[in-house]
Amino acid sequence: MSETLFTVIIYIFIFIFGIIVGSFLNVCILRIPLKETIVSKRSHCMSCGHQLAWYDLFPLFSYLFLRGKCRYCKAKISKQYPIVEGFNGIVAVLCFAISGFSAYTLKNIYTIVWYTDDRFVWDWAATVYEDIIVVILSSILCSVLIVITVIDWRTFEIPLGANVTIFVLGVVRVVSLMLTDSRYYKMKCVVLDKVPTFLEKVNANGRWLEYFIGFFAVSVPLAIIYYASKGKAMGGGDVKLMAAAGLFLGWKLAIVALIAGCLYGSIIHIIRMKVSDEGKQLAMGPYLSAGIITALWFGDTIVKWYGSFF
Ligand SMILES: [Zn+2]
Repeated sequence: MSETLFTVIIYIFIFIFGIIVGSFLNVCILRIPLKETIVSKRSHCMSCGHQLAWYDLFPLFSYLFLRGKCRYCKAKISKQYPIVEGFNGIVAVLCFAISGFSAYTLKNIYTIVWYTDDRFVWDWAATVYEDIIVVILSSILCSVLIVITVIDWRTFEIPLGANVTIFVLGVVRVVSLMLTDSRYYKMKCVVLDKVPTFLEKVNANGRWLEYFIGFFAVSVPLAIIYYASKGKAMGGGDVKLMAAAGLFLGWKLAIVALIAGCLYGSIIHIIRMKVSDEGKQLAMGPYLSAGIITALWFGDTIVKWYGSFF
């Protein structure tokens, strides 16, 4: 099988996996604001209450096949379901595609695992692994941001659980890069015939610091605005979101995320105010989420471009 065909098949799987996760996101979006459990409860039709069979629950395709109507009572099914599912599938594909993931990447891992014991190849292998871990964590992050976007849009509140999930993703990312660095340093010490201490290993490249600062870089100024305006200028959930996302992104990309988010927010809000007389209340979550995804996908390019002016 050609490598291109294999890559296409991998991406079809990523898309299908993405829409399956998307249908779980729909459950979260529906039940979290109602404080209902998101596990161990069968899905049912929102208007007739009929329990749904497995073939009614296939993400995206069930909706298309049923033409957006309940099989039992013919009531219209909310467009939110296929939109969230399809969107999550596309976002997952983009996360992998923008990172340059291909069949070739998988072949690399295979080669690394089975054919080498050279320490320098292992060193290179560590970065391949790290890239893949980052892509997987990034696509989970995007899924959480989709949940935040829809819930905040509707309820003007970002659920704490979503922010905690992003914080955990950030911790996993920082720990995994510390492990890569420490492994690398340990190998270097073998060459130098030196015994590294624990702190030396963990701090080998000092990369963790960029992410540690990221937690505070944007969230502290936002927290000051939050307290100074007594919560009128922005919500506490927005501050926590930018803290957690900052840990995941590092301080440079956290700043990119904030600037992009504010830009989207002001442009779209001005348009919305012109088009209709909507209330002044503004949910920041959707715009900050879009900013975070922008930083995730294009942040490094933007930072490099900005750096070229100096
Ligand atoms: Zn029904």
